[in-house]
Amino acid sequence: MKFSNTYIKLGEQFFHRTLPEKVVSPTLLLWNKALAHDLFIPKNIQDDHLLLSQYGSGNQLPNGAESIALAYAGHQFGHFNPQLGDGRAHLLGEVLDKDNVRRDIQLKGSGQTGFSRRGDGKCALAPALREYIMSEALFALGAPTSRCLSVVATGEMINRGLTKAGAVVTRVAASHIRVGTFQYFAARGDTASLQALVDYSIKRHFPEIDTDETVNNLPLSSEQRILAFLSSAIAKQINLVVEWLRIGFIHGVMNTDNTVICGETLDFGPCAMLGVYDKNKVFSSIDEYGRYAFGNQGKIAQWNMARLADCLMPLLTEASDKQLTEEEQEEKALTQVEALIHQYTDQFDVAYFTMYGKKLGLANIGENNTALNNKLLISDLLSLMQTQKSDYTQTFLELTQSLTDDAKAQELQSKLGDWYQRWLVVLRQEEPKQESHQQKNYQNAQDLMRKNNPVVIPRNHHIESILDVCETVIANDLSCAKKSTKKVITETVDEFLQVLRSPYKEIESTAKYQELPGDGDRYYQTYCGT
Ligand code: AMP
Ligand code: MG
Repeated sequence: MKFSNTYIKLGEQFFHRTLPEKVVSPTLLLWNKALAHDLFIPKNIQDDHLLLSQYGSGNQLPNGAESIALAYAGHQFGHFNPQLGDGRAHLLGEVLDKDNVRRDIQLKGSGQTGFSRRGDGKCALAPALREYIMSEALFALGAPTSRCLSVVATGEMINRGLTKAGAVVTRVAASHIRVGTFQYFAARGDTASLQALVDYSIKRHFPEIDTDETVNNLPLSSEQRILAFLSSAIAKQINLVVEWLRIGFIHGVMNTDNTVICGETLDFGPCAMLGVYDKNKVFSSIDEYGRYAFGNQGKIAQWNMARLADCLMPLLTEASDKQLTEEEQEEKALTQVEALIHQYTDQFDVAYFTMYGKKLGLANIGENNTALNNKLLISDLLSLMQTQKSDYTQTFLELTQSLTDDAKAQELQSKLGDWYQRWLVVLRQEEPKQESHQQKNYQNAQDLMRKNNPVVIPRNHHIESILDVCETVIANDLSCAKKSTKKVITETVDEFLQVLRSPYKEIESTAKYQELPGDGDRYYQTYCGT
């Protein structure tokens, strides 16, 4: 594993140099072997848990690491804060993974930085474990996500109203370039840094813009390049949110500082999974007006992309036709970005209905009347689920099973009435050649559904009961002096993770985690400020 630090080359205005705070008694609780393998972490290091706890707590820096806290701004719940930045995270550097993708390695909960404001720079154990579990679950489900390499208990108490055990997470992400990073420089009128950030982002995430995208065999103009960047960032966000919707994920805090332009899921603070289908569902205690509700996530990502577009305006104006007046240049830039932001709506719709089509066994959503009909089929099902308060994951799973299970089919027929028959008619039209043989008739559809509808998700009540076990055991043994403390945490999390890592195929212990919450998650709340 070889560290490089390309972000540092952008210049001192992009970060503060700062070291993690040393901790008293680090214990490695979770280690992500599969991820470590993909990052080429040598076996001798992986076997040395003492060394890993030193690295994973920030007590010791790996060779080549240069610890920095990144500068960024952000809109939080619609309100702009020109200076946020990593207040409790230290970026150690980047490594190339097995696919030659550059990944950031960052510690979170590793102490105060110049951006900490009033925060203590720390992270409590439960949210650290939550981030590890949720990101692994999302990864296995196929949603783009940052991941966790390790969770290390620090042996320290931190104050979160109540005292809690502290921990440090090692986070691995395609990058930490946020919409808020662009906003930081835009707010300061620093167009040189903005342009450098666009160039860096293109090189790191969208290199095809400079290699493949040509007009009449000429490289793109500066203006076209910026627009291509915005368009690529938009495509990533659409893909991200549609994947969240497919699996029933509610991010909970889609502020622009938590929106990375590489389109990965970042920051799992108040996230939750949708149980009972409700497009307006919100679990986060601070999301009073439902800004980040399940069904609002697509619109919010568009809003966030419009904020990215705002930042690119001065660059577009600068790159514009010099024959135009300044006013004309600005107008042109505005028209150009507005067109892309408006296109988002149609692009999102296509991705959205294609995704739900697949969840219902339709490989293609079709065109014209067929598409209209299929879209109606999808929205009617969602409306039915909303009024019937059906479990989201369970419903799609039962629909999948019903294609080869008569009892399930009858059950759904009585629950969903006409809709169920309409669906079967559409499916039969998709596979007309096998009409004579009912069993085989829906095979393609069922295969597709099995790939798109999880059998298990990280349900909120399961996560919480696992976190409770872990918090209780560490509260009695903060420094993990007893072997059993680490063992209970590792084994409790691992059992759950084993199931979550097979989200489309039942394994022995899957059933235990398919059980629905007794109260339908009615009283479940998640919190920021973790
Ligand atoms: P988050 O809610 O984790 O996305 O954080 C939002 C902002 O608050 C970021 O600038 C964080 O670095 C900062 N922040 C969150 N928690 C803390 C903390 N305990 N200490 C210092 N800064 C924090
Ligand atoms: Mg954040």
